[in-house]
Amino acid sequence: MSTAKLTIDLTAIRANWRALNAKSAAETAAVVKANSYGLDATRVATALAEEGARQFFVAVAEEAPAVRKAVGQAVQICILSGHMQGDTNLIRDHNLIPIINSIDQLLLHVELLPNQPFGIQLDTGMNRLGMEPAEWQAVRELALRLRPHLIMSHLACADEPDHPMNEKQLQVFKDLTSDLTIPKSLSATGGILLGADFHFDLTRPGIGLYGGLPFSDAQSVVTVDIPVIQTRDVETGESVGYGNTWTAPVPRKIATVSAGYADGIFRRLGPAATLYAGSTACPVVGRISMDLIGVDVSDVETPTESLQLINETRGIDKLAKDAGTIGYEILTSLGGRYKKRYVST
Ligand SMILES: *Cc1c(COP(=O)(O)O)cnc(C)c1O
Repeated sequence: MSTAKLTIDLTAIRANWRALNAKSAAETAAVVKANSYGLDATRVATALAEEGARQFFVAVAEEAPAVRKAVGQAVQICILSGHMQGDTNLIRDHNLIPIINSIDQLLLHVELLPNQPFGIQLDTGMNRLGMEPAEWQAVRELALRLRPHLIMSHLACADEPDHPMNEKQLQVFKDLTSDLTIPKSLSATGGILLGADFHFDLTRPGIGLYGGLPFSDAQSVVTVDIPVIQTRDVETGESVGYGNTWTAPVPRKIATVSAGYADGIFRRLGPAATLYAGSTACPVVGRISMDLIGVDVSDVETPTESLQLINETRGIDKLAKDAGTIGYEILTSLGGRYKKRYVST
């Protein structure tokens, strides 16, 4: 069998949730959108509900039923995109809490599901989702009469602690909500790390649960092992892979491993990527193909059946840096072909 193996440490995800929970006096939710950043929302939500998480956030209504099925009725599931046309039955049947982003959404919600709880998202400067302050003023009275479950906003620059945008958004959020008694939420992973001023009543970590920056103390969650299909000796002057982009400067031993850009190992990584046999670095040579990668294993002393791309010491953010992206994109790009293994240690 040659599919690459993605190992997901559920115990580490639980430990990361506990560690983030311990950083604030607020309640700690769990963001499980995009199938828990590609790691499987059913597994992750089950583990975190056992750990004590009582609120889960998904991006769109269609993501919610799997979470509801996994965790049962005792938890709350919020939809960040709010209440869109076509979501009504899902919201009602699975008892979901849409986070209302506009006056239109509020009116739709109140008309179609007048007794269904909802939250409010305010835009405090990111200009992505949420009501602008003027919109909020216009519907504030109506919305408050219906006792929203939550009022929230989202920080644009929380991964840069010194960025002036953090304080600016905090101030706008306070100005808009300080007289309200409904639960408030401003922070994702980055905001939790900014300190108590940013915590309010509920935090919403995602990436930190999954072992990514900006939570630099996170436990490593993901390991990627890629089987070696064959190994060959390449002579000086021979090339490897599409386009002959790499030529052996001296005789080398080259392994061909069974994964590629279809598995989220971006083609543009090319020789910037390194795989590992234990602690021995094995650089990628030539172009990354759809399903195959050439790797220089000349320094590996005992032949190995597989090489690691992501492990405890070389995590998602190292790979992300090499690829010019962020850990979030690495995780959500890994794709469906891996043989996934969930471990509880
Ligand atoms: C994705 C998201 C989160 C989680 O963010 P992380 O940076 O992954 O912790 C929280 N809140 C909102 C509104 C989001 O879109």
